[in-house]
Amino acid sequence: METTERPDNTLKIPADINYQCTGCGKCCSGWSVPMTEEDYQRINAVNWADLNPDLKNKNLFRTLKANEKIGTPYAYAINPEPNGQCPFLKDNLCFMHSKFGAQFKPSICQLFPYCFNETPDGVYTTVSFISRGAIFNSGQSLIEQKEYLQSKYKEFQKLYPDHHPNWSQIKLSSNWPLTWEQYMDIEKTILSIMQNKNKSLEERFIEGSAYLKSRLSNADLSSLTNGSVSALNKWDKILLVALYRKYFPPQNKSAKSYGQLHLNLSSFMTAIPYINNIEQLVRETDNIAWSIDADSNDLLYRFFYSRLFAKLYFGAGFGQLSIITGFNHLAVLLAIIKLKVKALAMTHKDRKISQSDIVQTIVQLEKSLGELRISPYGAAILELLLSSQQRVGRFLCQM
Ligand code: SF4
Repeated sequence: METTERPDNTLKIPADINYQCTGCGKCCSGWSVPMTEEDYQRINAVNWADLNPDLKNKNLFRTLKANEKIGTPYAYAINPEPNGQCPFLKDNLCFMHSKFGAQFKPSICQLFPYCFNETPDGVYTTVSFISRGAIFNSGQSLIEQKEYLQSKYKEFQKLYPDHHPNWSQIKLSSNWPLTWEQYMDIEKTILSIMQNKNKSLEERFIEGSAYLKSRLSNADLSSLTNGSVSALNKWDKILLVALYRKYFPPQNKSAKSYGQLHLNLSSFMTAIPYINNIEQLVRETDNIAWSIDADSNDLLYRFFYSRLFAKLYFGAGFGQLSIITGFNHLAVLLAIIKLKVKALAMTHKDRKISQSDIVQTIVQLEKSLGELRISPYGAAILELLLSSQQRVGRFLCQM
């Protein structure tokens, strides 16, 4: 099916996801807000220094470098303050918004945190987990906000008229093409596995990964769910280093750049010297108990459910990965989140996991995933390393 046009504008809205702005101002920190050419012309025409003395003598904007623009509609960015905060955030309120209204802000800020993924059978919506409103499931469910979502989607279409995701290459694995209808059939089972709250998230991922593998070979599902619990092998560690270093860059580095996160051949080559460090981290965090409260568990579930529902894990939704690779990548992300949260717990006196560590980790990961560009070589290596259901089992059992 030719899917480069917008064939169906029906909004598909997930259950279980709520959102309301909590007014905390935290979404306006930790990144270099990108702007389209039109945003820049509108915003740069204002003499901000005259309107607010805090904005005097500041280099507020910059041109994006060529490699930051690739695959984006953006051309400029707002320079964050040294503390990572947007210079227009004043007393937890957007100064542009207070002065000139919501529609004056950069396009990305107007739409935030709503995400729209156009597919052959409708526009799948969700919210970004950078937002504390989404993290804490504040306010009304997205289903109850349908009218508002429709107005936001109209804005999205106006702001990004050239955004046409290409879903014509859907694959179960690298050489197993699927039609959209076949995918939707598989997705029904995947979502029902992931919604089974009687099992841990780890068990649900292992079951989902085994189910996808069984669709490839009609293999007996029960034989695949006996996941190996052997130690991580060398390729597991290379994958772990490459993804961990990519998704959790130093805060000051990620705040100053936009679109600089590239997963390519060199991400894996440069991972090799860090294997010892990651082995040490896995060892040191091994005795930190993964004991989390019900709210944190629910947050992790919603984070993954949201990406699955909105199809932000495979095909045009994420690096043109196959469904098996995209799903197994999410499973490995759960292991990486646990490793990062345990690493943060090691810095506490009591070495206990706190909800704020989980929140910080999810926010950072969501930012990184949103900015990540996967090169064809990067995608090919992920296809190779993430086709293994046993590898997923090792990650989820070892961390
Ligand atoms: S422009 Fe306004 S809404 Fe956008 S990041 Fe800055 S303060 Fe926040």
